[in-house]
Amino acid sequence: AADLKTILLEINKKAAAYYYYQLRQETGKKALEYLQKRELSEETIKAFGLGYTGNYSDGLYRYLKSKGYSDQILKEAGLFFFDERQGMKDKFWNRVMFPIMDVNNRVIGFGGRVMGDAQPKYMNSPETKIFDKSRNLYGLNIARRTRKNYLIICEGYMDVISMHQAGFTNAVASLGTALTSGHASLMRRYTKEVLLTYDSDEAGQKAALRGIPILRGAGLRPKVVNLAPYKDPDEFIKAEGMEAFEKRLENAMNYFLFEVQVLEKEYDFNDPESKTEFYRAIAEKLLEFPEELERNNYIESISKKYQILPEDLRRMVNNMALSG
Ligand code: ATP
Ligand code: MN
Ligand code: MN
Ligand code: MN
Repeated sequence: AADLKTILLEINKKAAAYYYYQLRQETGKKALEYLQKRELSEETIKAFGLGYTGNYSDGLYRYLKSKGYSDQILKEAGLFFFDERQGMKDKFWNRVMFPIMDVNNRVIGFGGRVMGDAQPKYMNSPETKIFDKSRNLYGLNIARRTRKNYLIICEGYMDVISMHQAGFTNAVASLGTALTSGHASLMRRYTKEVLLTYDSDEAGQKAALRGIPILRGAGLRPKVVNLAPYKDPDEFIKAEGMEAFEKRLENAMNYFLFEVQVLEKEYDFNDPESKTEFYRAIAEKLLEFPEELERNNYIESISKKYQILPEDLRRMVNNMALSG
């Protein structure tokens, strides 16, 4: 008998085919219209294998039963739940489906989105024997083939798909989980530089701040892309187009300057004491650069941007270094 992982991959592949087929049926019409309303082309829908669950609460279950799978094995797939009264039911129902592929193009899980404003907006497959969320990135199966020397990381499905459709086929997303060192080392296999394009809301900015040390820890160079006044890459591209987006990528901010920019919001420049504290905080952060040349380059950038003489800032850093 084939081993469990092989069977689970086979089940996921059949599920993806089932969802893909449902999208083309009469019942899938509103799902297809939803994707068209989000300006996805036929080619994009195909390339990402997008689908629809169908309208039945056990459509996928019955389909896979007809293919001969046992309940015991289907329970391992993460696509069903067991109800005492009604038996096995599909976990995803009345949702647009995004198959999640590993780098070898094998379907390892799914994300599902409601078509309206119902909550939760997204649902993802749980982790299974074949789906480790902290070691897979959505879109990397395509992005790994990019000729660009950087990857773009964003929050979600629609952002990845929108960027790919606009020609930025080096975009990936972590899936409803925070960025992990597993994600970072996976990216490091393909590139040295990563542009962060998380949402411009507070949650997204916090996620960027948390992601930076993780990326650096894996030996990657993170930079942060400013999407304002738009909320995410998908909305930016729809509103401003690909050339404007390309410019934002080119102007991505050095990660350290981004951290300082976030820090700045906690201080009041009209208050001399608060202003001094801000410089102290920067000086302390500058200690993380042991190499003199690198530290000096940062001191130069910071002093230009934040009205402080480079000598003053350097002296502050050196005093801190001495006092340990
Ligand atoms: P859309 O993706 O339709 O444009 P959005 O930009 O408002 O909507 P966000 O709320 O920013 O979506 O979510 C971005 C990503 O975060 C999603 O693609 C998904 O991967 C993940 N996510 C969001 N909500 C959830 C959830 N409830 N459970 C798991 N993952 C989620
Ligand atoms: Mn978000
Ligand atoms: Mn978003
Ligand atoms: Mn969005």
